[in-house]
Order: sequence, then C-alpha cells, then structure tokens
Amino acid sequence: MTPSPRPVLLPALLAGLLLALPLQAAPVVIRAGWLVDPAAGTAVPGQSLLVDGGRVQAVGAQVSAPAGAEVIDLSRLYVLPGLIDAHTHLCLTLRTEGGKGLNDLLRALLSSTLLETTGRRALVGVVNAREMLAAGFTTVRDVGNAGNYADTDLRRAIEEGWVPGPTMINAGRIIAPLGGQYHHLQPERADLGEPEYLYADTPEEMRRAVRKNVLFGAKVIKIVVDDQPYLYSVEDVRTLVAEAARAHLKVAAHCGTDAGARIAAEGGVASIEHAYDASTETLELMKKKGVFLVGTDFTVTASHAMGMDDYHARVVARLKRARAVGVPIAFGTDVVFPMAGETRGTLSIAFVESFQEAGFPAPAILRAMTTDAARLLGVEAERGHLRPGAAADLVATEGNPLQDASALRHVSFVMKGGVVIRR
Ligand SMILES: [Zn+2]
Repeated sequence: MTPSPRPVLLPALLAGLLLALPLQAAPVVIRAGWLVDPAAGTAVPGQSLLVDGGRVQAVGAQVSAPAGAEVIDLSRLYVLPGLIDAHTHLCLTLRTEGGKGLNDLLRALLSSTLLETTGRRALVGVVNAREMLAAGFTTVRDVGNAGNYADTDLRRAIEEGWVPGPTMINAGRIIAPLGGQYHHLQPERADLGEPEYLYADTPEEMRRAVRKNVLFGAKVIKIVVDDQPYLYSVEDVRTLVAEAARAHLKVAAHCGTDAGARIAAEGGVASIEHAYDASTETLELMKKKGVFLVGTDFTVTASHAMGMDDYHARVVARLKRARAVGVPIAFGTDVVFPMAGETRGTLSIAFVESFQEAGFPAPAILRAMTTDAARLLGVEAERGHLRPGAAADLVATEGNPLQDASALRHVSFVMKGGVVIRR
C-alpha cells in the first residue's frame, strides 16, 4: 500500500481563516459491524477500513491502525458507500403559495429567476448542499436551475473545502428551445427566461450553448426535450449529444412525455429525467440503448406538497413497468420546495418509499443509489463502492439496508473524503 500524498486544499493565505472547517483528515481506521457491498449484495461482518488522504487505503478483517490514527467504532452499524442523488437542484428553493400544482411551481420558478440574484442562489445552494450531505448523499448530479452558474461556484467551494456538501456533477444552465420551461412569458420580454435557461433552437446555437456550459464549469449537459409544444427532434438531440461528447460530457434529458422520452432515447442521451408517461415500448428502447431512467419518483408527501397528487401513482406505476422491463435506474429526486420540519436531505431520502411501493427489493434500491448512479455519473471507478482506492465517502445505518431500504432514511454516520461530517 502506498500512502497517497495529502492534497493541498487551500492557498496558505486563506488557510488561517478557515481553521474551523475540517479540511484535512488524519488517518482513520473504521471498525465496521458489517461492510455492505451494493454490487455484490453482501454485508460482511467484522471488517475494518483504513482511510487516509481522503481515500480507502485498505479493507479487511485484520487492518491495524497506524500510529496516530483515530479509530472510529461503528461495530454496531452497517457501513456502506455514500449515497448518490442523480437529480438535484441545490441552488433552487421555490417559495410557492403551496399545493397549487405545476403551473404554480413554474410561476415560482420564474419569480426566482427574476427576483433572486445569482449570489443568493449560491447561498441557497450552500444550505441545501449541507442538508443533503447530512442525510447521507455524498455525491449529486445537479441538473441546473442555478441562475447564472451559481452551481459552478458552489461545486468549486465544496471542492476547495470552503463549505460542506456532496461532490457535485453540475449542469450549468439548462439548454432548451425558446422559452425554456416557462409558459407565462410575454413577447416583449421573452428573454426573461434567461439566464435560468439557455435558449438554443438551431444546430449552431445548440453547439454554442454546450460550449458555453463547458467553458463555465458544467460537468454534465442538461437539456429540455419536451416542455414546449415544439419538441427537440432526434436530430437536435444528436447534435447536442455529439457536442457534449466532444468535451467528454454526458447528456441528461428532461422528458415529461412519452414522445419526448422516445426522441431522447433515439438521440442517444445518457439519462432520461422524469419520463412520467413513458410507454413500455419506450422503456424497452431505453433498455436496449443503455439509457438510464432517473424517475424523480415523488413520494405521497412530495406530490401533495406541490399540489400534484396524481404524480405519485403515475411514477409508482411507471417504476413498476421500468422494473419489469429491466431499464437501468439511478435514484434521483428533483426536490425544490421547502417543508416545515424537513430538510432538503430528509425530503430527498424519503423517495426510497416510492421504490418500495413499486416492489423493488432493498438491494436493487441500494444499487440505484450507489453503484448504478455512479455509473451514470461516470464516477464508478472511485464511488459507489468501498474497495481500496475508492473515495472515503461512506455512511452507516443501524439496520441492514440490504434487508430493508428504510434503514437508509436514518443514517447515523457520514464521512466524505475521509472527513467525518456527522456521527
Ligand atoms: Zn428537475
């Protein structure tokens, strides 16, 4: 085993100001009651992990603690890789009038676009990022709605250790046909939908939009295929996917309709978001082409809070069909509203319920939140497992998450990059 060099996280000038943040972790040995491997579906008792330099360095029944190492006793707990949410909007918290449906949500989004500065959106992101991490999400794919690239600033602040939060794969500005997702714009100010959305209607505009996102820090490209009567075509999607691929980025496609999902799958995107009404034939096409479903499967509570009660039954029915077809699935939530007594993290982790209602066995739910989501995000080499070399992102639960996925809803320990976040 070769100890990896300690990362230099901050310029020396700033380091003195930030001593309160746990930027640098000492070597740690974790005594795990059971070590859960989501890919294998196993929980091996009596394992230890040596963590140093932000990574797992050794795993086994006999791992001795080097001099000076802290020993963390989790011998009564199940230890597993940190969880992944593949569909977040950290820099957006909607102030809705509550429970008035999709149009109310979109009006609230327009109000955020018009009235909230990008600085405020970044601060909203700081709060949501901290809450997601505390709930056990150590990685997120953040799919836009961050004003004018507040998400890039948030990602960098987290990477530099300024603020606690999950590792972010961020989308920058969402690329969409004229109008973005707004249905209330008026002709004298159609531009008000920007910068929240990045309008792109011609192939040249699409390529330029992707390049703009790459330039300003996006790590994934998010497109909206079917939120206006004028859908992107298969050819449009192919143009966007090809330009993203040139920068080694994947494409996530918002598709509310079956027609949109079919176009996105034909066009070769990496994942289809929502796909509320995807037909079984479209799900079969997705499976054939290896396209992930990120269903944003609203719980009863979440659907009700948004005034969209009917969505819960729709997503559970679609999840059942997706499971029968065998589409690759990554856990994703899309929570953008506040709720008294809850955090962004607790609201998001509750989406486990929808998978349980759709009959997913616990190991499949855990894979959707770890190994499978890591594969979609392109981070599977170092995340979604705890083998030597993996990022030291891990959580612990009292119950066995392979037997009952509800155990995931109450993690009692969170480590990210070798730093203890919560214990
Ligand atoms: Zn979303």
